[in-house]
Amino acid sequence: MRKPIIAANWKMHKTVAEAVDFCVKLRETVLTVSGVEVLVCPPFTALSPVSAVIKDSEIKLGAQNMHWEEQGAFTGEVSPLMLKEAGCDYVILGHSERRQFFGETDEVINKKARAAFAHDLLPIICVGERLEQREAGETEAVVTAQVNNSLSGLTAAQVDKLVIAYEPVWAIGTGKTASDEDAQSVIKLIRSLVAEQFNPASAEKLRIQYGGSVKPGNTAGLMAQADIDGALVGGASLDLESFWGIVKAVK
Ligand code: PEP
Repeated sequence: MRKPIIAANWKMHKTVAEAVDFCVKLRETVLTVSGVEVLVCPPFTALSPVSAVIKDSEIKLGAQNMHWEEQGAFTGEVSPLMLKEAGCDYVILGHSERRQFFGETDEVINKKARAAFAHDLLPIICVGERLEQREAGETEAVVTAQVNNSLSGLTAAQVDKLVIAYEPVWAIGTGKTASDEDAQSVIKLIRSLVAEQFNPASAEKLRIQYGGSVKPGNTAGLMAQADIDGALVGGASLDLESFWGIVKAVK
């Protein structure tokens, strides 16, 4: 049985004070829920302060990106060692905004995924097609290449613990959510790709989230789909009430 995971991706939002305030309140609220993993992914500056606030609670901490090297002359970058020291359990890799604005490729994401596992961080690898690719009927081909290349060289034991987020780019921050059936169909494809590339047992353990304009009102329908194991939430995760509405809608 896969435990659903609801992740808040705050992107470049929230100062340290705002992130801490949110997590102090989330920590009180989270005591009332079970059977769902709750993860917050603040900006780098807020990781350590948030880690102190959620210590010994059920809330997990994730970063939004990292470099694959432990240290070096990479101005502006943050390493897996640094994220681990800051208290991170997870790291989001290959978000479409990283691919679009910072030129990240599947090869780079693959290097980062290997480095994450080497440092005991669990990657959340993001995949998803752009609007013109969906309209050209290329969704399956695009997602297949992203999954196969990003996971290349990982072991089956690593894949068991991995999280993949299927985020159609046209649904991110646009208010347009994929239909429950469309999301399920691509996520089912992703699970079958992992079964082929690794083995069916790992594919069954792997958790696959949906991301793209998830809100309290559309969560239950998405989560009722057989292969959807949670959500990666951007805009609606910035407000505690709406983030909590999403967590509570997971059954
Ligand atoms: C995201 O940032 O991963 C995301 C899905 O954003 P939003 O929920 O705002 O569409």
